[in-house]
Amino acid sequence: MIVVGAGPAGSTAARELAASGARVLIADRAQFPRYKACGGGIPLRTERLLPFPIGSVIEDSVSLLQVTNQGRNRFVKDSATPFAHMVMRERFDALLLDQARRAGAEFRPGTAVRDLEQNGGVRLRAADGFEAEADFLICADGAHSPVGKMAGLGDGIAECPAWEVEVRVPRSKAASYRATALIELGYWPWGYAWLFPKAEVLSIGIVLPPGQGGDMKGHTQAFIDRLGLGSTDIDIQRGHKIRFRRASECIADRNAILAGDAAGLADEFTEEGIFYAIESGRIAARNTLRAMGGDGSLERYQRDIDREIMPELQAARLIGFMFYGMLRRAARPWMLASAHTPFLWNAFFAVQKGESTYAREVARIPVLPSIAARMVSS
Ligand SMILES: Cc1cc2nc3c(=O)[nH]c(=O)nc-3n(C[C@H](O)[C@H](O)[C@H](O)COP(=O)(O)OP(=O)(O)OC[C@H]3O[C@@H](n4cnc5c(N)ncnc54)[C@H](O)[C@@H]3O)c2cc1C
Repeated sequence: MIVVGAGPAGSTAARELAASGARVLIADRAQFPRYKACGGGIPLRTERLLPFPIGSVIEDSVSLLQVTNQGRNRFVKDSATPFAHMVMRERFDALLLDQARRAGAEFRPGTAVRDLEQNGGVRLRAADGFEAEADFLICADGAHSPVGKMAGLGDGIAECPAWEVEVRVPRSKAASYRATALIELGYWPWGYAWLFPKAEVLSIGIVLPPGQGGDMKGHTQAFIDRLGLGSTDIDIQRGHKIRFRRASECIADRNAILAGDAAGLADEFTEEGIFYAIESGRIAARNTLRAMGGDGSLERYQRDIDREIMPELQAARLIGFMFYGMLRRAARPWMLASAHTPFLWNAFFAVQKGESTYAREVARIPVLPSIAARMVSS
């Protein structure tokens, strides 16, 4: 069994497979720990999916959400208890990989897969000449998914650009943002900038619609300037794609499947993907074990993703349509209304904490699909 990619999706699949006694090789082109452009926001519902503590990599936990419209109409919502943890991805991902190795998975870093042959089983070749073969392959190779493309999977999945900057600030400055996630709305036609507090840096970034990748750096700098952080040192800045599976794009065949970002499993309201990466890693492991002991096919994986993850992504997409649609039509009244609509934020915090789901919240508002449909068509 080969897993390509040691991010949250790949490490989770490898851990669960190895823990069930399967022989697993997990290959990644990077040396670990490796940087991943990411806000590092880990909602409590994501932590709940993991059967081991993550306290050693938590840099902060946030219970306050500050929202502005390009610096205007500011309001703060308090969830009373933390709704998300903040991590640096290099440490978080190293922890997940360490758990996979402890469960018995073999890890090969520096293994950039360049060629894939599928002929009953799978045979892959890496840039350094390394070769491996197995009956099954899990492509957890991220949003660009080069290996997924070689397998002919993931065609037609939508994507958008995002940008991440790690700003190094004195500890006293970092402390002034403790426990608070900042969200700046007001980008056209949708998108948001964020500031997530970490122990030594502030993780600042932006996500924008397709085609606006060229504007990300300028918008992020303007956001940093508005925050009064213009003269601080930037540790690292990097862009990356986020992918969104919206319908029935093919993510599985007999002996290869896509998990996590490779499969486009990120939501279109918050653009978060780690929850779905871990969840799909679990579903991938379950299906691989079933295929090993049964009919030898991974094709049922896609049906399981359609049933267990897609309803949540579709609900998040509806909420995103409604939220950004209102913001586009009447920014100031919508900021005022949402500031004074406890239902909205209580529902958001409940989802983040794993006490509810987007699908359940959408089902409570039967008119939401028709409102969202009107916003899309007008
Ligand atoms: C700027 C930005 C901010 C984000 N912020 C958040 C957030 O705050 N919270 C959240 O939940 N989500 C966030 N996301 C989304 C989140 O980062 C992803 O959903 C998550 O990383 C997906 O995990 P993964 O395991 O599928 O892929 P990845 O974490 O991308 O891992 C893929 C791995 O595959 C390896 N790989 C790629 N190609 C090859 C190859 N040819 N051979 C071998 N290995 C290969 C890579 O080296 C990498 O280690 C953000 C995304 C971006 C771009």
